[in-house]
Amino acid sequence: MTFKVAIIGRPNVGKSTLFNRLVGRKLALVDDTPGVTRDRRVHAAKLYDLHFDVIDTAGFEDAAASTLPGRMRAQTEIAIREADLIFFTIDAKSGLMPDDKTFAEIVRKSGKPVVVVANKAEARGAQGGMLEAWELGLGEPIPVSAEHGQGLPDLRDAVISALGEARAFGEEEDADEEAAASEVLIGEDITDPDAEPSYDDTKPMRIAVVGRPNAGKSTLINALIGEERLLTGPEAGITRDSISVDWDWHGRRLKLFDTAGMRRKARIHEKLEVMSVQDGLRAIRFAEIVIIVLDATIPFEKQDLQIADLIIREGRAPVIAFNKWDMIDHPQELLAELREKTERLLPQARGIQAVPVSAETGRGLDKLMDAVIRTHRVWNSRVSTGKLNRWLEGILAHHPPPAVAGRRLKIKYVTQAKTRPPGFVVSCSRPDAMPQSYVRYLSNSLREAFDMPGVPIRIALRTSE
Ligand code: GDP
Ligand code: GDP
Repeated sequence: MTFKVAIIGRPNVGKSTLFNRLVGRKLALVDDTPGVTRDRRVHAAKLYDLHFDVIDTAGFEDAAASTLPGRMRAQTEIAIREADLIFFTIDAKSGLMPDDKTFAEIVRKSGKPVVVVANKAEARGAQGGMLEAWELGLGEPIPVSAEHGQGLPDLRDAVISALGEARAFGEEEDADEEAAASEVLIGEDITDPDAEPSYDDTKPMRIAVVGRPNAGKSTLINALIGEERLLTGPEAGITRDSISVDWDWHGRRLKLFDTAGMRRKARIHEKLEVMSVQDGLRAIRFAEIVIIVLDATIPFEKQDLQIADLIIREGRAPVIAFNKWDMIDHPQELLAELREKTERLLPQARGIQAVPVSAETGRGLDKLMDAVIRTHRVWNSRVSTGKLNRWLEGILAHHPPPAVAGRRLKIKYVTQAKTRPPGFVVSCSRPDAMPQSYVRYLSNSLREAFDMPGVPIRIALRTSE
């Protein structure tokens, strides 16, 4: 099954040129005469190993029109509706125009996966337009020159990360839409960068439970789900042998994915001694929040730390359950010790929620789920550009970036480019020269200032020239 791409953008950004580049032949669309039949057409396209269809929207508009006529808008909307993926195209050379924002709004509302194509990137001064494109809040702009055929490998990679490998390569026959959407962080995350943070708690929160064998995963899952346990799956479009459970916790809808504990019964003789990394990885990829179950009597073995690290690197948020708490003699001392260890051993995401529980007696489960929900909110959080830059002023006043080779590094501004997890773009002079320690300082300071404990925070440096 191939996917369909709609190339969207205001007139003259280079949509037809990009279309021709992808379709691989010179269709006479660039100078299409107004008035001729302007049907939407679909053409087979190729980007290295990716095969897909492109919806031709180039004929929709009158290139001379400076406004956005209703008809064009309507047809753009139709194309978006039909598409599985949108190439939102801007002209990096000219920079953002008001119409770009109008189109971006339409794209954003559709909720479809989107790749921002910063076209004409080979032109002088395109860097500024690239940076502005971040402000659309549609994710990372991919610099491309449709005319010169540059930047196409990056475009390919962006498609894969927007759609997920399975869909990009058409391996999944009937991809589960929800699952696909969860992989498409770019497309899903889009909100006005300056809008008040909104949090949708009506969609099922996707969680996974991981941990070493015998930590108590199955017991915990049974305790959480109880009798309402509903095994569904295999989930189409995810993995052939994954399993999910839907349930709700005091009215909050949850979807639990693919845990080793649940699957063990079916695969008794397989790799019981080591948690399969593959299993864990799969569960983590499809989850938003990952509960790491640790046996409190033997916590923080190497493998536990590896899995936590993996979760953070995958951009998911971990919550730790110290299980078998009923067996602990000095709970208060141990809890203090374990929390201190959590901070020390997992500094990548300071403030990870860590909750003592007994899966067997059910104690602590309410607190655990509260921590899960709280973490999910943080993971979804968005900070307005205004607040970020007020924060930045404080930073620059009290702890500015160091001088490198006698020249002080400058930071111009900060925006949040994505959520789930929070990702920020710091626009600065000489990103290459910025010391890692300073980037860590920024990340820790952001975490503290905007109360984002326990989730990965990503910072991308961009040049401000
Ligand atoms: P559309 O209206 O969005 O379909 O844009 P076109 O594909 O017709 O391109 C508009 C103009 O931009 C044409 O003059 C193209 O030659 C030019 N153009 C398209 N792609 C590029 C590019 O990558 N670099 C430069 N410098 N110009 C480009
Ligand atoms: P899994 O391999 O991680 O799924 O672990 P299980 O759920 O099968 O549990 C492993 C063993 O630990 C079983 O004997 C459970 O009865 C026991 N266990 C699980 N949770 C608790 C707990 O909270 N307290 C105590 N004392 N034992 C537990």
